Amino acid sequence: MIEKRIPLSRSELEKISEKYPTPFHLYDEKAIRENARRFYKAFAWAEGFKNHYAVKACPNPTILSILLEENMGVDCSSLPELFLSEKVGFSGEDIVLTSNDTPAEEFVAAARLGAVINLDDIGHVGLLEKSVGIPELISFRYNPGDARTGNVFIGLPHEAKYGVTRDQIVGAYRGMKEKGVKRFGLHTMVASNELKNSYFIETARMLFELAVKIKEESGVKIELVNMGGGVGIPYRPEDKAVDLELISTGIKELYDQLIVPAGLHPVRIVFECGRLVTGPYGYLVSRVRHVAKKYKTYVGLDSCMADLMRPGIYGAYHHISVPGKDDRPADQLYDVTGSLCENNDKFAVDRRLPVIEPGDLVVLHDTGAHGYAMGFNYNAKLRSAELLLREDGTVQLIRRAETMDDYFATMRFPSSLVEI
Ligand SMILES: *Cc1c(COP(=O)(O)O)cnc(C)c1O
Repeated sequence: MIEKRIPLSRSELEKISEKYPTPFHLYDEKAIRENARRFYKAFAWAEGFKNHYAVKACPNPTILSILLEENMGVDCSSLPELFLSEKVGFSGEDIVLTSNDTPAEEFVAAARLGAVINLDDIGHVGLLEKSVGIPELISFRYNPGDARTGNVFIGLPHEAKYGVTRDQIVGAYRGMKEKGVKRFGLHTMVASNELKNSYFIETARMLFELAVKIKEESGVKIELVNMGGGVGIPYRPEDKAVDLELISTGIKELYDQLIVPAGLHPVRIVFECGRLVTGPYGYLVSRVRHVAKKYKTYVGLDSCMADLMRPGIYGAYHHISVPGKDDRPADQLYDVTGSLCENNDKFAVDRRLPVIEPGDLVVLHDTGAHGYAMGFNYNAKLRSAELLLREDGTVQLIRRAETMDDYFATMRFPSSLVEI
């Protein structure tokens, strides 16, 4: 069992909330840095190893600049993500564009930045050529189809909209070589929030075998293998974190077995994990507004699904702590909800927790990735602030909460109708 800890005590959280009212997401800088170093250390054998942090997981410039300092790159899938990465200071091949249904302006921005362009479809080659010409380096996203099983979060690969198929992949590289591409990458992303160690070793096997096949059948030498993201985190106390050392050892064995004898060495290995990097080090801190006894007992928070959508859309588990009440028996059965007019706005259903009263602080764990980032404004809910717990123990506001002015900023009132 994993002990689900909070880096701050109840009184420290109360103090923070005097300055920055709840709800807010709080990220733990020290833990993010330590985890990043652990990840890199596990892959120390792999020359040029990098994780390209999936910007969509936590698109906050302060978080991204911490990851830049930890030698990470970025994985972008939209134009604003490319711009955000540029502003933070990422450049060149530290940026990967893994987009789908890609518009020309993303190719233009990626080419200007010297980013690695990872094509989702062979049909995109024409648009790429028209908008920026043929780059020196190109990568393709591979979709193995029914050769792999995927998982509930991402669905079956052969039903997924992403990537180049098994029948297309070798021809895709041959075609790009004929067009004058000099350097080649290979990418896949077949799982999401996957906790099985063997899954990632199998992904490496699939990509290494494919790299060998591509070389044999087209003469193209893959120099960059991108294993994608999707490494899961233990949301539940009984979950087991992935063993990065074990995965790394498994991948190295396959590298020596497949890549080296095929004359492909050196191949640079990269990942594009988001969740693994920041997920466990973010917390959504809320305050209880009401405890309502109906057919069931509801704990109503001042945050809602707009601040953390995963439980509402996937039924995902997020651990809940009630700071200051850790030592009380968890003998109450609650549904923990937000205030959205949407019945799946529930952070937890039938959760055993200690007795909760209005005014208590409630902390949802593991919101450091795909938490704030998935927020939305439905029901005119305003997005929360993001805070950073610095290594020196101070707390810094890294994104203010939205205001009603933000909400109204994009609206055009009737007077502007004449402008059409
Ligand atoms: C979302 C995404 C990731 C990151 O996924 P995690 O589960 O956060 O690791 C990586 N690559 C691509 C292409 C993605 O769409």
